[in-house]
Amino acid sequence: MSSPTKNTAPAAPAADPARPSHFIRQAIEHDLDQGTYAGRHWGGEPGDGPSHAAGVPDPAKVRTRFPPEPNGYLHIGHAKSIWLNFSLAEEYGGVCHLRFDDTNPEKEEQEYVDSIRDTVRWLGWDHHFADDPARPGVQQPHEYFASDYFDFMYRAAEYLIEAGHAYVDEQTPEQMRANRGDFGTPGVNSPFRDRSPADNLARFREMRDGKHPDGAMVLRAKIDMASPNINMRDPAIYRIRRATHHRTGDKWCIYPMYTYAHPIEDALEQITHSICTLEFEDQRPFYDWVLERLAETTTLPDGRVVGGLLHTPPPRQYEFARLNVGHVITSKRKLRQLVQEGHVSGWDDPRMPTLAGLRRRGFTPESLKLFAERSGVTKTSNAWTDYAALDAALRETLDPVAPRAMAVLEPLKLIITNWAEVFGSDDHLEPCHAPVHPHHPEMGQRQFNMGRQVWIERTDYEETPPKGFFRLFPGNKVRLKYAYVIECTGATKDAAGNIDSVTARLVPDTKSGTPGADSVKVKGVITWVGAADGLPATVNLYDRLFTEEQPDAGGRDFLTVINPNSLSTVHAIVEPSLATAQPEDRFQFERHGFFVADRRTHQAGAKLVFNRIAGLKDSWSK
Ligand code: ATP
Ligand code: MG
Repeated sequence: MSSPTKNTAPAAPAADPARPSHFIRQAIEHDLDQGTYAGRHWGGEPGDGPSHAAGVPDPAKVRTRFPPEPNGYLHIGHAKSIWLNFSLAEEYGGVCHLRFDDTNPEKEEQEYVDSIRDTVRWLGWDHHFADDPARPGVQQPHEYFASDYFDFMYRAAEYLIEAGHAYVDEQTPEQMRANRGDFGTPGVNSPFRDRSPADNLARFREMRDGKHPDGAMVLRAKIDMASPNINMRDPAIYRIRRATHHRTGDKWCIYPMYTYAHPIEDALEQITHSICTLEFEDQRPFYDWVLERLAETTTLPDGRVVGGLLHTPPPRQYEFARLNVGHVITSKRKLRQLVQEGHVSGWDDPRMPTLAGLRRRGFTPESLKLFAERSGVTKTSNAWTDYAALDAALRETLDPVAPRAMAVLEPLKLIITNWAEVFGSDDHLEPCHAPVHPHHPEMGQRQFNMGRQVWIERTDYEETPPKGFFRLFPGNKVRLKYAYVIECTGATKDAAGNIDSVTARLVPDTKSGTPGADSVKVKGVITWVGAADGLPATVNLYDRLFTEEQPDAGGRDFLTVINPNSLSTVHAIVEPSLATAQPEDRFQFERHGFFVADRRTHQAGAKLVFNRIAGLKDSWSK
């Protein structure tokens, strides 16, 4: 699993003036300046945690961690936390740990562990996969599991009991709740609070040995039932729970509470800056309490000196405001509900705000990083970021690199009635070309053919054009992009009166790129795909998944505001250059926006499936 980390990182670089400063960066710079963590040397014993924690001096100055609970797929909010933790560590020459916070035995599943690992890698943090010193050349993930520290957490709990800092409480859950008090009322001490350490220790060992049923008693920290901070009113630190853990199996029937486990995990991994979201601010005093108690030594009545399980300086917790994105839900429980109740096709449905979904939708790691960076690091809670900012980040990062292509999403046939007159035969195909990217000639040219029949967008023809409509209507001239100017002569209709093709005459000697191209001035240019070489494709067009900006605001059932039109699938015709598109290749379809070849269903040359990532400009703010 984990192994000593060789820190080959360079000395901390000077802060980049282009990166906006924020309070977490300031804290890090302050600590680097003061040498707060220089040469720190943690306690613990071999086997307590990562071996660099077991008494080996840690040369890395900055250690952060990203600690997801493997009970669901990562979402857009996690992308921010990942970006923040990994990029700060990198910027200051440190390390970021991917830590699976698997202290809760009920919820963790291997599927989630795998998807989290994949996602962090995909986002580009795979350089944090370190060389395995025991197997040269083999990369191993720089990753950790909270459950690896269960032995230490247990030992630490016994120490707290011996030192008089913890007790076994046998009140019922209802009594405990009632006696905790509330914001305005101090709590009431448990009748079990003053049991002797020896009694508590015996009881706690009985809990561990399975002598008591689930929920019969808990181990609580002995702090202050009158504290103005309710989190300090003797919080529970261990509970009985008979559940098979995905890694430790049935070894334990007691499990540490998250708020007790988390500071220990950070300490054993020698984390310096423990960055979390604002809802943990009120937990910080308990976080510090745990680390202070475990660093202390205590002389027991029998003269034994115990404790000193951890040495200072301890990790420090910093809280920032979580990312909220409009029209998006980020509660893992609610996301699971969308999947399990079949409101979406799965965790990676392209409409899902999971990173697996955003990836399949076509978002790139670069766009997500830019989005996270721009959303800022603040302490302002309940700030909402517009989804449009995500699209903007995608457009900005993809526009400079995405190959262009033409696609007709609502095909209508256009027939050039004078084709044989101009080219000598109805079967003639006229080769045309266009740059792969308008600003990068080195990316080459796309080739396609124009023939007597081409596909155009249904919306590009109007029998009676509204004012300002410059595309096809009887008598009007437009240019077929990269090809000829044509003059519309009318349309044919089927028995039901629906337009089934448009007719036009080609204006000779007007081909793009030839001297005659400018001989006729037109106000409209339309995209098209040749009927002879166009390829059928399935195109998925997406809209926001929820009709309300804050789907679960005010306790509303978010299922009632699911957008019934969030997906429309169309049968499109695309230009022949897309025949070789591989899954996850991204393109700009001229006029239509940015598209990706679906990573699950697209098969080059056989079954073309494209997802629209974002339009060319913000169409949402309207
Ligand atoms: P749950 O919905 O189950 O409470 P969570 O969102 O808290 O889950 P965790 O797996 O505990 O998920 O999160 C891992 C890390 O990601 C934590 O440090 C958490 O603070 C951070 N994180 C989660 N959601 C956001 C968010 N919306 N913005 C920024 N960071 C987030
Ligand atoms: Mg959580």
